Amino acid sequence: MADNKSPRPAVEETIIIGSGPAGWTAGLYTARANLNPLLITGNDYGGQVSITYEVENYPGFPEALSGPELVEKMKEQAEKFGLTVEYDHVTEIVIDQHPFVVRTASGKEYKAKSLILCTGARPRYLGVPGEKELTGKGVSYCATCDGFFFRGKELVVVGGGDSAVEEALFLTKFATKVRILHRRDELRASKILRDRAFANEKIEFVWNTVVTAINGGEGASVTGVITKNTITGEVGELKTDGVFVYIGHLPNNDLYHSKLHMDEDGHLITDKKMRTNVAGIFAAGEIQDKVFKQVATSVGQGCAAAMQTEKFLADLDAEGYHGAGVDVREFQEFCSFTPQRAERELVVA
Ligand code: NAP
Repeated sequence: MADNKSPRPAVEETIIIGSGPAGWTAGLYTARANLNPLLITGNDYGGQVSITYEVENYPGFPEALSGPELVEKMKEQAEKFGLTVEYDHVTEIVIDQHPFVVRTASGKEYKAKSLILCTGARPRYLGVPGEKELTGKGVSYCATCDGFFFRGKELVVVGGGDSAVEEALFLTKFATKVRILHRRDELRASKILRDRAFANEKIEFVWNTVVTAINGGEGASVTGVITKNTITGEVGELKTDGVFVYIGHLPNNDLYHSKLHMDEDGHLITDKKMRTNVAGIFAAGEIQDKVFKQVATSVGQGCAAAMQTEKFLADLDAEGYHGAGVDVREFQEFCSFTPQRAERELVVA
């Protein structure tokens, strides 16, 4: 259901896909640019920040606020300027024609001159009993967001890559002890991080170990993990106040396979102006960022994508574009006004 009851145009100026910080910011900026934008939330309303207890590092909120509160504020602000929100999930984008077509789980179909893709990423989950139920109650995927709440506590970090080790080091600022549980006896993390972790007295490694369940106590907060030794098969229990899971992230890229350029990890490739390889399609936030992954950076990328979208649509108008139902190759030809076009090799199936 759209919040805004006014009928939608036959062809949208822009559709934003995703309701994390990048999406809301793109919505705010395109709304303020009078583009009458439509944002389709996706099933994971609010994105990863919505599973964060408290956000303390987003500028402007010195008192901190919960992830869901921040999402609601961003939504409210964008709606105030005219963003229309659809609580629906995009199941397909058709980009080998222009206008582009967006289809949703509820059976709706939209046409749009431009798209801003903000479908984000999700942490790779352990997929063990207790994990889902205790998320936000001791199970976390973000040390930067939640580490502060574990001052004086003992923690478990799962994983052996850069993220696990870097975040374990960060958590030693608060915790009395951080155990890194890794499924092998050798870290994947870079040498500099390994060396720092080995030198840190608060960090202890538990090798060849996987977590098979997470236990919660009275009031449903984490009390421990059930472990299994990957060599001997021995099962044990480790008491802990919190579990931080860092076993990789998965970009939410199901819509883009064989359509848009992605890197080897499945992130959309954009240039500095947030442009994908297809003219008129922009991306922002963690679907295209595997480095920073902060609310503040996603907001900045959403802003940049929206500003570029506005410019792109203004250029289209200025060039006298009246196309409807044209082949995307013709459209790309027409869009030769946008610089760096040579970098945009077509990968339309
Ligand atoms: P990653 O490099 O893919 O590491 C994931 C870790 O989780 C690996 O150690 C892996 O074990 C383990 N793992 C995967 N699935 C598991 C499972 N089901 N159960 C238990 N353990 C599991 O992911 P990342 O650490 O998030 O890093 C992602 C990228 O960002 C990397 O390219 C990394 O270099 C980069 N990064 C860089 C920095 C930095 O430079 N400061 C910081 C963070 C991330 P195995 O080792 O056995 O496969």
